[in-house]
Amino acid sequence: MIVILKNNATAQEKDKIKSVLEERGFIIKEIKGQQDTVLGAVGMAHMDLREVEVLPGVASVIPISKPYKLASRELKKEDTVVTVGKNKVKIGGNRVVIMAGPCAIESRSQIMEIAASVREAGAVILRGGAFKPRTSPYSFQGLGEEGLRYLREAGDKYSMPVCTEVVSPRDVAMMSNYIDMFQIGARNMQNFELLKEVGKTGMPVLLKRGISATIEEWLMAAEYLMANGTDQVVLCERGIRTYEKATRNTLDCSAIPVLKKLTHLPVIGDPSHATGVRDLVSPMALAIVASGAHGITVEVHNHPDKALSDGPQSLYPQQFEKLVRDIQALCPVIGKSLEARPRIIPEGIKDDSASSSSLSGKERIVAFQGERGAFSELATRRAFGDDVKVLPLPTFKSCFDAVKTGNVDYAVLPVENTLGGTIYDNLDLLESHPGITVVGEEQVRVIHNLIVNPGTKIEDIKRVYSHPQGLAQCKEFLEKHLSYATPIPFFDTAGSVSYIKKEKELDSAAIAGSPAAAFNDMEILKEGIETNPRNYTRFYIITREENEKFFKRGKKSDTASLLFTLKDEPGALFNALKIIADRGHNMSKLESRPIQGRPWEYSFFAEIWFEDEDYAHETFRILGKETANLRVLGVYKRNH
Ligand code: PEP
Ligand code: MN
Repeated sequence: MIVILKNNATAQEKDKIKSVLEERGFIIKEIKGQQDTVLGAVGMAHMDLREVEVLPGVASVIPISKPYKLASRELKKEDTVVTVGKNKVKIGGNRVVIMAGPCAIESRSQIMEIAASVREAGAVILRGGAFKPRTSPYSFQGLGEEGLRYLREAGDKYSMPVCTEVVSPRDVAMMSNYIDMFQIGARNMQNFELLKEVGKTGMPVLLKRGISATIEEWLMAAEYLMANGTDQVVLCERGIRTYEKATRNTLDCSAIPVLKKLTHLPVIGDPSHATGVRDLVSPMALAIVASGAHGITVEVHNHPDKALSDGPQSLYPQQFEKLVRDIQALCPVIGKSLEARPRIIPEGIKDDSASSSSLSGKERIVAFQGERGAFSELATRRAFGDDVKVLPLPTFKSCFDAVKTGNVDYAVLPVENTLGGTIYDNLDLLESHPGITVVGEEQVRVIHNLIVNPGTKIEDIKRVYSHPQGLAQCKEFLEKHLSYATPIPFFDTAGSVSYIKKEKELDSAAIAGSPAAAFNDMEILKEGIETNPRNYTRFYIITREENEKFFKRGKKSDTASLLFTLKDEPGALFNALKIIADRGHNMSKLESRPIQGRPWEYSFFAEIWFEDEDYAHETFRILGKETANLRVLGVYKRNH
């Protein structure tokens, strides 16, 4: 059962509820949501729900209808994000995680070489089997503990947590000294003794789907792991046995969206074992990501023809590199981003943080404009990770001020929308805030939803609130389905959701992103109602100049944002642009802005791409001489 606590329940009341349930034989899991705290009570015990409902501090009690309890979405609405290894690679939420490596660890040099190449291409977790459950007892069975040592060494050298398959309960303790994530293979999905032993470690587990397991059986296997002590479970669709012979197994992509409804656990896919054929791996990997999975695990080998296992399905390193680039291109379309690679810490240097964007030691605070659940918050979390501390502020100016005074370390601000164009306010604010610099960018696909108070039906809606852009971008949907409702412009999209909630407007709807619905516990009546789905917003990450080096540590810049004014002479703009062209820079953006208080005079805002930062600085120096005034607003790594 799920016990929802009252908002004002005291710690003593909560402890009392827990002890009453524990005395009756329940296992209790406390889950802190964004809005409320719930206690999940699971186990073989039985209790009349009414006995729990009357306990002080209890708001309501809901039975869990599914046979899997801890794994079920009924118990926990928010997505679980699993954290792997000391590099803290995260699986879940809006990320796409790429796990790669050979089927089996064959030698030290083999795993080292493959680790170097997959890391370079963009993998964030290293896979490789040391204990191989082979169909034939005469096939290579793996290097065992020796293989684990090589895997650990490769993971440490290239800053990747490592994941490997466990086949026997007696190996669990030994393996936990070497690895960051256990893999339970398809053949062992229902090896309950193994699940219990691995669950007890509390470590992250990649649970592959059994060769002929139903989704419910698979979730029951996850329940075994969770009931025994780990909440860090990632499910992996790897193809199921069907009558089809053209592929090794049949990839069940539809399991991915089905699981996302049934469970809060992250789901990834394995296109290698699903197909068994190298040429099919990349297309199916893209299908897995497009289906909404949180990542993929792929077999890559430096010499697939000589591989001791699964050579025919292993990608060549170059094929893998191309696949990562394709996934990166796909990510914004589905509203996600690739999980960033952890930094490689040179030997002998003490790491002060697992994140490349940390201000040494202290917790980072990042401001954005709008309310909780806004698209700007989505961009912020994508750039800094889900656990970043955010500060929502009412205006763009207040974000700049907070950065300037040091109240926050960074701010994430929209600068351009593919339909609405440039957001000039933020460029003007950059111009009027010397000392503040752009250190990065992020992009978010704007997917609008029709959001209502739970229970409101489309025919009840009399008013639709949203930012004017939100209303304009959903015009076709509104004309077709809600022509009788009055559109009401509001100061921001997420704010319109919290407003109709606060005012309990049961005959109104709001248009905003899905995080705004989740944060406010509201219902999405219709998803993706924007007229044009190719709707992206680009954000700048700004900070004070002295913080610049913390954000950019280890990142190679390739883009600059510039603001310049021209000398009043013929050909001035041409001459400035000629310098950029002659020095081989690609100019990706050029806009003119009227200069405040100087009628008919303009400044120019440009973005240019470069390969070498020193060379680009030389360009800025030359350009500085040719123009009346030049400000480099920021030099950063492109993300689009
Ligand atoms: C593997 O990942 O190497 C493996 C053996 O996978 P599965 O258990 O899915 O067959
Ligand atoms: Mn394999």
